[in-house]
Amino acid sequence: MHAIGIDIGGTKIAGALVTESGQIVAEDRQPTPAGDPAGIVDLVVAMIERLSLGSEVSAVGVAAAGFVDAAQSTVYYAPNINWRNEQLQRLISARVDLPITIDNDANAAGWAEYRFGAGRTVTDMTMLTIGTGVGGAIVSQGRLFRGGFGAGAELGHLRVVPDGLPCGCGARGCIEQYGSGRALLRMANALADAGGIGLALADARATHGELNGTIVGQYIAAGDPGAVHALQELGRWLGQACASLSAVLDPQLFVFGGGVAVAGDLLLDPIRESFLQHLPARGYHPEPRFEIAELVNDAGVVGAADLARIHSSAG
Ligand SMILES: [Zn+2]
Repeated sequence: MHAIGIDIGGTKIAGALVTESGQIVAEDRQPTPAGDPAGIVDLVVAMIERLSLGSEVSAVGVAAAGFVDAAQSTVYYAPNINWRNEQLQRLISARVDLPITIDNDANAAGWAEYRFGAGRTVTDMTMLTIGTGVGGAIVSQGRLFRGGFGAGAELGHLRVVPDGLPCGCGARGCIEQYGSGRALLRMANALADAGGIGLALADARATHGELNGTIVGQYIAAGDPGAVHALQELGRWLGQACASLSAVLDPQLFVFGGGVAVAGDLLLDPIRESFLQHLPARGYHPEPRFEIAELVNDAGVVGAADLARIHSSAG
């Protein structure tokens, strides 16, 4: 039977009717009224009604860009949406006669990758999503890891530098400050300031203004030495973080998603190299694979739908 997945992000709400094999058969998309929690519920309920019209639906999974509790019902906190202890599950359930479960959006995307993407051949997978920030998801022995309070797998806040750069989470030295799209832009701008291999980046900035992700991405794709250097620096930090994660989780596979991952091997090569340098029991520890995510934009809705379907058939 089909399930519905809804992915509530800071800027848009995506919804889809999804088959048991992860195929999308209908979809919908609306801007998020981020400051209006009641408006979000109205939109989600309307979306569920539209998507379920004429189809048999077993469950609805809602992926939310925030910290979700262990009961998968309340969003404790969201950085980009006005949710503080928002009882999302109860509010939607009151108006929709289907089982509803809430999950963190990065966890839902990671689950989709595990079930239907790069992770479908392994039991243990760690995913890092390299967008503006760094998101994470862990699948261990075929189960999605959520932690005791539900707020686990926030891998972007793994500390890689004691007393390092301040992070939006309030701590310092998190990998998000060294391995994210925002960090890539910081490094590219520093190279543009320094001249040398950053000369072409400095010219680009003089022409187009402050370097953004699109411009740096174009320079990486064109093989510009400065832009590629910045990406390699990013990869070295991510490789270190993966070595620490490997000591704890021992995954067979690391998967990289998000906008920066379109760089492919240019990102994976320095990650692999730095990983091997920092890996405990180097030379004896079996080597995990490093791959780019296969499901790009739809991962959140597909994962949320699948998690909801599994949850409802188990419960
Ligand atoms: Zn942090």
